[in-house]
Parts: sequence; C-alpha cells; structure tokens
Amino acid sequence: MADSVHGQCLCGSVAFELSNKIQHVDACHCKMCQHWAGGAFIGVSATDADITFKADSTLTWYNSSAWARRGFCSKCGSSLFYKLINKTDYWAISSGALTLPEGIEMEKEIFVDEKPGYYAFAGDHPRLTREETMAMIKASVEGQS
Ligand SMILES: [Zn+2]
Ligand SMILES: [Zn+2]
Repeated sequence: MADSVHGQCLCGSVAFELSNKIQHVDACHCKMCQHWAGGAFIGVSATDADITFKADSTLTWYNSSAWARRGFCSKCGSSLFYKLINKTDYWAISSGALTLPEGIEMEKEIFVDEKPGYYAFAGDHPRLTREETMAMIKASVEGQS
C-alpha cells in the first residue's frame, strides 16, 4: 500500500497529500450529502495530522450544521471535505478526490434509509439506518470526552 495518497479537486487549485494508511471507504446516503455531493458521499476517514495541503487558495468552507462544515473548491465546485467543528478530530475526505490504490473496499454505509431506490452499492458490509448511525456517532463522541 502506498505511503501517501494524492488528493485534489477537479481543477487542481486545492491539492493535498494524505499520509494515513487507507484501507477502506464509507458511504453516506443522508439528504445533506446528496445535496452536497450530487449523490452518496463516499469518503475516507482522516485526522488533522494526516493531511498536508500543497495548495488551498480556493478551498472554501460551508457550515452545514452546528457540528460540521464542508470544504469545497470555489473555482471548480468539487466537494472535498467533511470536517467536525468540535474538538473531535475527524475528517471525511471525498474518495473521488483521491488517487486510491486498487483493493480498497467499502466498510459501511450510513443513513441507508435516506438512500433513493434507484441505486445500491454491492458488497457484504454493515448498512446503518439513521437511528443506528446516530447511535454510533454518539458512542464515538462520548468515547473521546
Ligand atoms: Zn478546483
Ligand atoms: Zn451524509
């Protein structure tokens, strides 16, 4: 597996390297991600320490809720980052922005009850409803405080 992975927006005005070992992606089907990404948001988890920006002059943030903001390129419109605002150090980085090695699998899907019926992802992995997803998030945030 590569030591670092290159990431960028469509136009290249936002470019970065990810240093963490990427083993899997997760998919979010929530309505907010659908509006933001044009469909399910497929992301890779990371922390502040994993990300090194090479270029970020057009990186713009939108506060999508009281607890999270979303980063995008204001020149080409690429949806790039979902980041928690509070002390929890968590990023989800758009898999489409990354040059990922072969063999990456989907670990889980969340908010599956908001997924439209016209698509479904293959594979045998957990598919969490909104209720199950919120319980998982609550448990992980409490674990850190
Ligand atoms: Zn761009
Ligand atoms: Zn979502």
